[in-house]
Amino acid sequence: MVKTQLEARGIKDAATLLAMQNVPRHLFVPENKKPYAYTDGPLPIGEGQTISQPYIVAFMTEALQLKESDKVLEIGTGSGYQAAILAKIVDTVYTIEIVKHLAFKAKDRLQDLGYANVNVKWGDGYYGWPAKAPFDAIIVTAGADSIPQPLIDQLKIGGRMIIPVGQYKYVSHLVLITKKKNKITRKKLIPVRFVPFTRDKKLGGNK
Ligand code: SAH
Repeated sequence: MVKTQLEARGIKDAATLLAMQNVPRHLFVPENKKPYAYTDGPLPIGEGQTISQPYIVAFMTEALQLKESDKVLEIGTGSGYQAAILAKIVDTVYTIEIVKHLAFKAKDRLQDLGYANVNVKWGDGYYGWPAKAPFDAIIVTAGADSIPQPLIDQLKIGGRMIIPVGQYKYVSHLVLITKKKNKITRKKLIPVRFVPFTRDKKLGGNK
């Protein structure tokens, strides 16, 4: 997978490649999908959600230009796979999942596999995780129609955010946002398809 799907398509960041080599993807997919764990595509993980294609996980991780000392927030824990990749590279990972069952399952899985630097929370990621902000990097793994302002607010100066942006059911693009002292820059990267970023009024804001 690392050689043919990632390196062959231009992923170069050594830390990203090493993490993708070291996280056992088959332990993050349902039993009946295990034979396909290292194939070149997304896979269903239950509740209508998916684990992203390995290339997209690597592309997004590389784009964030992570450092070992970084504190990263992920929105859309899903299976916990992307969080595990981040955990191999950075100091601390915070991740929020809106579907209760997926949040608790990912929490147990990451704990069982020994990813002690990942913190999972059930909640609406629109609000970010103010108590743990600011973050060096934020990764959103569900397709949003706009960029949630609370997430921009919770980025450090110099911080990077990657998020799929586009109208539901149409092609989205990965957008890389960099927060500078006096401005926010946005760069449109590659076209992608993600499950939608959803909202749950009952969940309200996160502390
Ligand atoms: N990163 C995941 C895949 C994510 S699929 C992995 O590595 O497996 C997208 C996930 O985002 C889904 O599980 C979906 O329930 C979740 N999601 C959608 N909207 C959300 C929101 N507002 N807050 C938190 N999670 C959300």
